[in-house]
Amino acid sequence: MTDCVFCKIIAGDIPSTKIYEDDKVMAFLDMSQATPGHTLLVPKKHIQDIFAYDDELAADVFARLPKIARAIKASNPAIKGMNILNNNGTLAYQSVMHSHIHLIPRYSENDDFS
Ligand code: ADP
Repeated sequence: MTDCVFCKIIAGDIPSTKIYEDDKVMAFLDMSQATPGHTLLVPKKHIQDIFAYDDELAADVFARLPKIARAIKASNPAIKGMNILNNNGTLAYQSVMHSHIHLIPRYSENDDFS
């Protein structure tokens, strides 16, 4: 989709810090880091939200979550936990209308994120 910021990142037209990429998905750092290492996992196919997934796309995206989460955790021994979030619809605080999953590393109970 031409006016989608995440499609432009996937196409390489907007810079990003890439964490992972294969033929189905891409993961890159969120430009607004809730905590250090805050990453977004996105399907390469433009799809708006969870309500639009079919089984095949769901398997492609969600099956990759654990290994990406493990890779982020392994990158920094200070990471003690992780929040995994997915906002769907403006009412649920989705601001970019290309489905994405937030992976937010947690370091301590004093993280500036709740
Ligand atoms: P919210 O903005 O409420 O977190 P979303 O769940 O839709 O809503 O999250 C969109 C995320 O996309 C935000 O965390 C935002 O910082 C991130 N974002 C927007 N544009 C870019 C970009 N060009 N590169 C990296 N992250 C981006």
